[in-house]
Amino acid sequence: MMNDQNISTLMAEVLSDSSGAITPPIVQTSLFSFDTYKDFEDRMAGRTNQAIYTRIQNPTVAAFEGLMAKAEHGEAAVGFASGIAAISSTLLAFLKPGDRIACVEHVYPDTYRFMERILRPFGVEISYHSAAEFENNEDLLAGVGIAFLESPSSVIFTPLNLPKVAQLAKRHGTLTMIDNSWASPVFQRPLTLGIDIVIHSASKYISGHSDTVAGVVVSSQPHIARIRDLTLSLLGAKLAPFEAFLLTRGLRTLNARMMQHQATANLFVDRLAAVPQVVKINSPGANEVPGLTGRSGLISIEFNDNVDIPKFCDALKHFRLGVSWGGFESLILPARVGLAQAGEKNSMQAFGVSPNLVRMSLGLEDAEDLWADFMSALSQSAT
Ligand SMILES: *Cc1c(COP(=O)(O)O)cnc(C)c1O
Repeated sequence: MMNDQNISTLMAEVLSDSSGAITPPIVQTSLFSFDTYKDFEDRMAGRTNQAIYTRIQNPTVAAFEGLMAKAEHGEAAVGFASGIAAISSTLLAFLKPGDRIACVEHVYPDTYRFMERILRPFGVEISYHSAAEFENNEDLLAGVGIAFLESPSSVIFTPLNLPKVAQLAKRHGTLTMIDNSWASPVFQRPLTLGIDIVIHSASKYISGHSDTVAGVVVSSQPHIARIRDLTLSLLGAKLAPFEAFLLTRGLRTLNARMMQHQATANLFVDRLAAVPQVVKINSPGANEVPGLTGRSGLISIEFNDNVDIPKFCDALKHFRLGVSWGGFESLILPARVGLAQAGEKNSMQAFGVSPNLVRMSLGLEDAEDLWADFMSALSQSAT
């Protein structure tokens, strides 16, 4: 019996290679040639499925896509050059003229910018709703073609009751898409909860090593075929074979890494409750909403006014200042810096977040070392 939770056990099946190689080869080629005129003609006419060109198909990329489809319990998957390419290419593959999108409020900041800076000027109507509105006000889905979800949301990590939202969306014929990067397939499998399309920034937990930028979409065969045919082919933001190799390597340890991220996050959440400077901890855990089976290492903490946040950030030794998350190294992103982001406003600027909030990516360093670092920095940063 295959252990459902353990993605690592899926590897053998997908990667079986007659050569005995234990890792997939990196097939670094742009095109694939044909033995005969007839083979070439048959392929171009769609009668066979041999790879033609790496913009559309590549065996190293296909190995990663096969693993992701299994991990998310989907029929098929398609890789992209980045998480935002996966998001934009999926939305553009399904949007129709005059469509309306219902989106979660604290969506990933660049997803919000994609909606506002590219889709809205093309005439797409977009409305934003809190988790409570999505769960309790089904009228907001009337006439909505696409519900774009992210659960938990970015920065404040509000989780959604996905089975409930999926059920309401089905009643209105609304296609549901979810950004599942925070939970990874280890802690949440939205397709099994009734959601139509799952999207990941694979730059985060799936890669796990902060060494690649990539994205992936998992869904039914027809949905993935549509994305492949339209926006993968014609916008062309494909996943590269070398990046796919790194992601396949990342998937081997995803389960083990998520368990350690969870253990460290549990330790932080337990102890933070007793820290007087902490006003709020944003870190949904197992069973907080149906279908969420664990706590990832990406949390946020709201301090009271007695913490000098710049001083706190500079006093930390293990947490580096930076964007992104999900790798070995622990990171901190103060909300004030995110709120100061130049250019068209992002979702945190639009929907608000406390300036006393810090987002922390709890990495794979020793949990007690991380906690000692946190408390030491806090003691040095009293206002
Ligand atoms: C980082 C991130 C993205 C964007 O992914 P890239 O790989 O950076 O393009 C999308 N959604 C969430 C939740 C993210 O954290």
